[in-house]
Amino acid sequence: MTAHDFDLFVIGGGSAGVRCGRIAATHGARVGIAEERFWGGTCVNVGCVPKKIMVNAAEYGAWAEEAAGFGWQIEKKGFDLATLAAARDAEVARLNGIYGRLLTGAGCTIFEARASFIDAHTLDVGGRRVTAERIVIAVGGRAVRAPIPGAELGMLSDDVFTLKQLPRRLTVIGSGYIGLEFACIFRGLGAEVDLVYRADLPLRGFDQDIRSALKEALDAQGIRQHVGHNPARLDRQGDHLRLSLLGGEAIETDAVLFATGRVPNTEGLHLDAAGVECTGNGAIEVDEDHRTTAPNIWAIGDVTDRLNLTPMATAVGHALADTLFGNNPRKASYRNVPTAVFTSPPIGTVGMTEADAAALGPVDIYLTRFTPMRHTISKREGRKTLMKLVVCQRTRQVLGAHMLGEDAGEIMQGIGIAVAAGLTKEDFDRTIGIHPTAAEEFVTLRTRTREAGVRAAAE
Ligand code: FAD
Repeated sequence: MTAHDFDLFVIGGGSAGVRCGRIAATHGARVGIAEERFWGGTCVNVGCVPKKIMVNAAEYGAWAEEAAGFGWQIEKKGFDLATLAAARDAEVARLNGIYGRLLTGAGCTIFEARASFIDAHTLDVGGRRVTAERIVIAVGGRAVRAPIPGAELGMLSDDVFTLKQLPRRLTVIGSGYIGLEFACIFRGLGAEVDLVYRADLPLRGFDQDIRSALKEALDAQGIRQHVGHNPARLDRQGDHLRLSLLGGEAIETDAVLFATGRVPNTEGLHLDAAGVECTGNGAIEVDEDHRTTAPNIWAIGDVTDRLNLTPMATAVGHALADTLFGNNPRKASYRNVPTAVFTSPPIGTVGMTEADAAALGPVDIYLTRFTPMRHTISKREGRKTLMKLVVCQRTRQVLGAHMLGEDAGEIMQGIGIAVAAGLTKEDFDRTIGIHPTAAEEFVTLRTRTREAGVRAAAE
């Protein structure tokens, strides 16, 4: 091993790479790590963290109005983006610094430079030749615009964090979680928001009841949804933009956000020089152990396009470091990963959707929809909570839990433990609720709403 400069070289200092490099170093490996843009990667700098701060900011406007129902007289004088941006950027800078220090503190050699392959053991790191016994690719992904004329006039999610002014009118293209979160953020901050998407419901891949309830909630907050539409072209018209849709409709707007997908960040890495192959969609091809088609090279995080979430990236990075250098071979599980969507109201989910579970066999569905106590007083429209359990008829195991409603992300973290542990509906029923909360509904859902998947089982 000592023939090389490093035992391990990590390309990319985001969620996956930082965790993998840091843990490998604590196991005694000589680790080098290169980051070309910002330590902490997408999550810390242009993803989860600054976005969540903006989600928090967007909530205060509505809260100030709701407070009147509880007796508070709060005068709303408007929103100042510069104040929010300064606070958000300071927090990002603080975390960004912590990530860099975590690496050096663990004994990693850091390179603030771009890395690319010369061969399977040799990298060009900012013009310097560096060799390593093992290499981990953790370069993440990047957002892409829809390929329409004038697309360059629109923003990508990274651009939201450098906006100097709140657009009066924003059009979001795409109804994946990132597009929906920004639609709700900007609406909450006071912008008029149009949302354009191809399907008949937002948030493809999520449970159908959640998708329908979300569509209603978006309507209730005044987000104009252009359902079943594709963008055709984007033009500048004097001081604003005009987004034309296929089919003839056009939207006059001040800013357009393309939330139309992300692609793995492999351009210019010279993967072929190392014998690393990609799948059809450009993600790096890996086996169950995250090993690429080159035996001494692994790929982790968004660049593998499996489950593109920060906690998944860090879990996989940690497991790989333990496996390679900690004498503790293990894998992070991709099953039953709880996740949240920070729309307004937010969504929390873990396990199977009704449709996926029903395709495997009969399931019992327990579903409730109610106005949470806060909104019986605030009288705010469109804030109904939906909670749903998908239960296997044969084993009574809870296969999936889904929620749209306030604090859904916070609540789902705990429910996720129960679902991942394989607990049954009776285990849920035995648990005493915490009163008065919305969360207690998850343990008091007594009456089956319907059954599903019966035909699948009969076939
Ligand atoms: P990244 O964090 O993208 O890190 C890759 C790093 O590699 C980057 O810093 C890049 O600069 C660097 N790099 C690339 N090429 C090279 C090279 N050749 N040489 C050197 N360095 C290189 N996930 C959640 O779990 N919850 C959320 O709420 C959430 N919100 C999100 C909101 C937005 C707007 C976005 C865009 C993403 C969000 N995500 C969220 C997803 C999450 O950010 C990613 O899953 C996570 O950051 C993936 O980590 P990674 O290490 O694979 O990649």
